[in-house]
Amino acid sequence: METIGFVGLGAMGKPMAGRLAQAGLKLIVHDKAGTAERAPAGARAAGSVGEVVADAETLFLSLPDGKVVEAVARAIAAAKPRKTNLVVDLSTIGLEAAGKTAAIFSGAGIAYLDAPVSGGVAGASKGTLAVMAAGSKADFARVEAPLKAMAKNLFHVGETPGQGQAMKLLNNFLSATAMAATSEAVIFGESQGLDMGTILSVLNVSTGQNTASSDKFVNRILTGTFNAGFTVHLMAKDVGLYRNAVEGAGTAAKVGEPVSAVWRELDDKMGAEDFTRVYTHLGGKRGA
Ligand code: NAD
Repeated sequence: METIGFVGLGAMGKPMAGRLAQAGLKLIVHDKAGTAERAPAGARAAGSVGEVVADAETLFLSLPDGKVVEAVARAIAAAKPRKTNLVVDLSTIGLEAAGKTAAIFSGAGIAYLDAPVSGGVAGASKGTLAVMAAGSKADFARVEAPLKAMAKNLFHVGETPGQGQAMKLLNNFLSATAMAATSEAVIFGESQGLDMGTILSVLNVSTGQNTASSDKFVNRILTGTFNAGFTVHLMAKDVGLYRNAVEGAGTAAKVGEPVSAVWRELDDKMGAEDFTRVYTHLGGKRGA
């Protein structure tokens, strides 16, 4: 059986690697912050990226940002001995970093899929993520089984690394916009004496319904728990990457500009908090 590597066992990587181990795949894992305490049962804990690369043909990454992915990509490309010939990056890193990562891997003769995910920590634990992969179709077919262990909806969105990032960033821009706009709308409704539960009940069977009203507000804000598992900082990172990408493409940013300003401001004030806290930041009273 082919050995699969996994580097980055954080909020997303730990449950995703857990799904691979549960599926009975032969797994070797590593995390810089400490592997033993994060490794799923049945996986081999490696002391370094090099140790993973020496053993795993296919290697998954789930790392914080483009800088880290580029550094790890360079370490993979330089590692000797090396069995790894395909790297699947599940991180959100933006178009520019995906381009640089593609160059590092192609220079070393390693195939690369740019394959960010959506669905959050809950989706990673349940194996219900969406994967939006870009790269060769043959490489995508090769990792279909492990991807299916982690995700319910697999998409091959294009042949060029960076296209997966474009898909992920435009998705997260919409999610960030829904979260910020719904917060403002709900706060306005509350100022008029409307109850949050009532507002959500009406919205969710009306035309204003969106991912914030149907999921984040009902399950994380109405409950006062603010625990979507995605930090303000990560959302601000994604919206910032989206803004840079839109600037590069020269497409409209009339909505994108003010939305990214909201998340930048929030990141400065409370980057480590859950992203549902945008409601509190904009003046919401529940959980304040
Ligand atoms: P995280 O910070 O919880 O996890 C990242 C992990 O990578 C950490 O455990 C860290 O120790 C490890 N790491 C950092 N540098 C390393 C290195 N050089 N070598 C080995 N390990 C290293 O982040 P996360 O929330 O799990 O997100 C991971 C990626 O997935 C990010 O790109 C994020 O944008 C994306 N993402 C997150 C969510 C979410 O809901 N959290 C959803 C979709 C996509």
